[in-house]
Amino acid sequence: TLPLAAAGFLVSVTLAWLLYRERALYLRTTNEVKRLAFHDALTDLPNRLLFMDRAAVAFAYARRQGTNVAVAFLDIDRFKLVNDSFGHAAGDALLVEVAARLQQATRGGDVVARLGGDEFAVLVEEIHDAGGAVRTARRIHDALLVPFTIGSHEIFTTVSTGIAVSTTGYERSEDVLRDADIAMYRAKAQGKARHELFDAAMHARVVDLLQFETDLRRAIDRGELRVHYQPIVSLRTAKVCGFEALVRWQRGAELVGADKIVPLAEETGLILPIGDWVLREALRQLRDWDDTHAGGGELAIHVNLSARQLLQPDVVERVRAALDESGIAPRRLHLEVTESVLIESADAAAALLGDLRALGVGLSLDDFGTGYSSLSSLRQFPFDVLKIDRSFLLDADARRGDDIVRTIASLARLLGMQVTVEGLETTEQAARMRDLAVDFAQGFYFARPLPPDDARRYATRTYS
Ligand code: C2E
Ligand code: CA
Ligand code: CA
Repeated sequence: TLPLAAAGFLVSVTLAWLLYRERALYLRTTNEVKRLAFHDALTDLPNRLLFMDRAAVAFAYARRQGTNVAVAFLDIDRFKLVNDSFGHAAGDALLVEVAARLQQATRGGDVVARLGGDEFAVLVEEIHDAGGAVRTARRIHDALLVPFTIGSHEIFTTVSTGIAVSTTGYERSEDVLRDADIAMYRAKAQGKARHELFDAAMHARVVDLLQFETDLRRAIDRGELRVHYQPIVSLRTAKVCGFEALVRWQRGAELVGADKIVPLAEETGLILPIGDWVLREALRQLRDWDDTHAGGGELAIHVNLSARQLLQPDVVERVRAALDESGIAPRRLHLEVTESVLIESADAAAALLGDLRALGVGLSLDDFGTGYSSLSSLRQFPFDVLKIDRSFLLDADARRGDDIVRTIASLARLLGMQVTVEGLETTEQAARMRDLAVDFAQGFYFARPLPPDDARRYATRTYS
């Protein structure tokens, strides 16, 4: 029985050893998996997941201890430029170097994480007030002053930092990161390479913006949107030949301008219902003027169409439906499109513009000269009017401004387009434009955008 017992013993030892090895291997792989799951592969820093976890623990601890913590949100300034000019490998190398400097510039206990892209975050623990976090931001700023050597290049880089401190009384640690992010955007807007503390005023601005968006969503249903009309004057006949429809919002006592409405509406998609409403309302108004014999039934109406509106698959159907509903002849409607859409989605835009053209409506290229399209690239698009941006009128050297307008106008004519200048404000500018053989003009010199009843009085005006 002895050999049998020995054999049994041997078997159990071997089994135990095997199990032990298996377990060690298991632990090692789970550690590796954990490391991969919670760390950024490029810089080996904690990732967003681990950062949020550590932040939650730190916030709970600070609350119990009566101390404070802060989150600094960092974004490298002009990082895209490094990627674009030196390549992605150089961009990656810079991120690794920045990560190292961040760690050097912070205290041992502070968590430095890479949130993604060129965004980093630092968790600053056990501080009394914002001062502690600001000191960290300054140390980071100083640590980045020394240029980076990436390959054979010397690269200077800065970061914009937003700081949120727990003194503001947060319930959830996600909210701190969000506010630090908002403060970071503020730092960018204030000129980059700086830090900004999230404060009550910033909070109020964010709340205001949210409220603005919520209210704008309801504005259509509540009947608060308006259209104002700016006369367009034919410089050949000196007569008003049409109006541009410009959206306004009667928000309580305030009349909100298009510059505040349109960018937000484009960002949120609200431009689709708003744009639809403006189109229908402008056509309805024109019909109303026709019915009351304003402008002899020949006035044109110009309506702006955002990129997002143009790229809707059913845009042609929508325009057709609006025209049918109003009974206005298609040739009296002009849609104005800016050139950005021609660059970003040239083929889709060309096809849709062609379909709109086939419907019989006029097409104007708006704000020409503010983007990058060249006149020759316009040949593939069926525009019949080019609207020259007002910035050329403002050229410090009036002669040069005139030369540019004259050149654009003659090239446009070669391409079969007529020309409108926008933003005429003075008698002198108006005289200059007549000499330049521009077809149409628009601007405060003739009239500002006006509510419908005031605009009506301009319908038969002649400027001589
Ligand atoms: P835009 O299409 O270039 O419209 C002309 C803008 O220049 C209008 O500003 C008008 O009030 C202003 N303007 C006209 N004459 C003069 C002048 O002599 N001097 C100066 N300084 N400005 C002049 P507004 O109404 O604030 O509209 C701003 C922009 O918002 C428009 O630029 C257009 O791109 C957009 N927008 C306006 N209404 C709509 C709309 O219903 N739908 C869409 N998608 N965009 C719209
Ligand atoms: Ca326009
Ligand atoms: Ca314009």
